[in-house]
Order: sequence, then structure tokens, then C-alpha cells
Amino acid sequence: MKNIAVVGSGTMGNGIAHTFAQQGFNVALIDISQPALEKAMAVISKNLDRIVSKGIITEADKIKTLKNITTYTVMTEGVKNAELVVEAATENVEIKLNIFRDLDKICSPETIFASNTSSISITRIAAVTKRADKVIGMHFMNPVPVMKLVEVIRGYSTSDEVTNLIMETAKKLNKIPVEVNDYPGFVANKILMPMINEAIITLHEGTAGVEEIDTVMKLGMAHPMGPLQLADFIGLDVCLSIMRVLEDGFGNPKYAPCPLLVNMVMAGQLGVKSGQGFYTYTAGSKDLVPAARFKSKTKAPVSF
Ligand code: NAD
Repeated sequence: MKNIAVVGSGTMGNGIAHTFAQQGFNVALIDISQPALEKAMAVISKNLDRIVSKGIITEADKIKTLKNITTYTVMTEGVKNAELVVEAATENVEIKLNIFRDLDKICSPETIFASNTSSISITRIAAVTKRADKVIGMHFMNPVPVMKLVEVIRGYSTSDEVTNLIMETAKKLNKIPVEVNDYPGFVANKILMPMINEAIITLHEGTAGVEEIDTVMKLGMAHPMGPLQLADFIGLDVCLSIMRVLEDGFGNPKYAPCPLLVNMVMAGQLGVKSGQGFYTYTAGSKDLVPAARFKSKTKAPVSF
């Protein structure tokens, strides 16, 4: 494969486009928003500058990588020559199903469709196309150019041939692919999100405060980041929606989201992206300061 289209140019889409382009693929980066595409190209350029300054690639490699990416706001034009489309649009079922319905109509019948979804069923996405054997999950981790893992998710009807091809493609990106089956949360979020939710329950029940919980997990379990800081980084709205997928998908109350998580999302405290979650994020500051309501409490209040 040589020609890749990436649909969605946000946090993940720009990283995916960067990663393919750096390995010599021709990338069509597509978004409905022109400002999003402009921002994506600026982010890719800045991220390439960083690895040039570290001596990982040369200035010439940077220029070549940028040349390998063309941006489009019209999907029909962007996917014209694509052998593989990687969808990384907003995590919303209706948006994604519409994109795949459209792609199925406009792409060659040979084109493989991959979704970077964190939680939506690949089998459900495949079912709106006439090529369920060619639909697969390609779950990159954030930040894409840095993180080695690609969770490769086989839908109910994904063929062996397509799975093998995507595993090989991930290796060409210098990633380590891991094949998993299509069940709620796949593997990464099936394990990670209940742990994050449990950390929030631990805070909500007043067993310990924000910093104490994160310190226990960092120093005791050698996690590079505590679960509450990680929740802020992922976005509390994203964490909540993945817990809902697990709760609905397995029908098991053990996946019920903590009421504190629900309240924080309703209050618009979504973590890094909103400036406040379990910690407060001030532009330019590297200090990790617990949000005012969690500050200086070894034990957090029991209810909010
Ligand atoms: P984001 O909000 O940063 O970007 C989404 C982009 O999709 C936006 O630029 C938006 O304009 C664009 N978009 C929306 N509808 C579109 C359409 N019809 N056609 C083309 N573009 C469209 O989101 P993100 O964080 O990059 O997440 C993208 C996907 O990756 C989601 O499925 C998410 O679950 C998954 N994911 C996210 C992370 C993460 O840490 N952010 C990690 C792994 C997987």
C-alpha cells in the first residue's frame, strides 16, 4: 500500500497522518474544517521540528514528510486513490456511521477501511458497509508519533487477509501491533477505564485525596502517570463515554461510572482541555496543582 487517506485531522488524525507520511506513504488528510486542517499541519510541522532538533531525522526528512501530506475538505477528492482509509473523526456513533456509509459509496471496492475509534464497535461500523471483511480497527495511542502500540481490532467479519495486511502496515510504521477481538473497550480501554473509574470512586468515597491516589499508583505500581492525571489528559467526557460503552455492552453494573465522574462532566470540568479536572491547568505552568475543591484534603469530601 502506498496511498492512505486519514479522515479527521484532530489530535489523533494529525498524528496518524504524520506517522504514515514520515514512513514515505502518500497521505490525504481530510477534515470538514479548514481551520482544523491548518492547525493539524502546524502541529505536524512543530512535532517534526522537535525530532529534527533531537537529531532523529534531518531537515530534508522533515520537508519530505510534509510534502507527502495533502489536505482536503471534500472527502470524495481526498479518498480518490486511497488503498487504505484510516478514520479518526469525532467519537460519535452517528458521525462515524455516516462517514463509513459515504466511504463505501465513493471508494474502490478494494479499499480497506480502518477506524481509530476508542470504543465504538468495529462490527457495527462494518455493518453499514458492503465490505465488512475489509473493515478493521486500527487503534493508535496518543501521542501517535511517540507511542509504539497499535491495537488491531478484528470485527466479526474481518478477513484474515485484511488483518495480516494491517498488522504488516503497522510494523512498517515502526509500531508494535497487537491483534484483539471486537468486544466493548477492546483490550486497552476494557482494562484502563475501570481502573481510572475505580480511582475516582476511591476519591469519591474519601479513602484518599487526588495526590495521594496518584502517588500510590505512580510509586507503588510504577505507572508513569497517576490514574486521575491520566483521566484529565484523556478527557473526562471521553472516560465517561467509554464507561457507558462498557456498561451497556456487558450489562454488568461493575462498569457503572462513578457519580463524581458524571457530575464533573456535567459541570464542564473535563480535564486538560477545559483547564480543570482533578487538577488545574494554567497555560505555561508545568506544576501539577489539584483543583481547588480537591486541594489540601488528604480525604476528599464524601459527596458533591
Ligand atoms: P478530535 O476532536 O481532536 O478531532 C476530530 C476531528 O474530526 C475534528 O478535527 C473534526 O473537525 C473532524 N471531523 C468531524 N466530523 C468529520 C467528518 N464528517 N469528516 C471529516 N472530519 C470530521 O478527536 P481525537 O481526539 O483526534 O479523536 C479521534 C478519534 O480517535 C476518536 O474516535 C477517538 O475515540 C479516537 N482516539 C482518541 C484518543 C485520544 O487520546 N484523543 C486516543 C485513541 C483513540
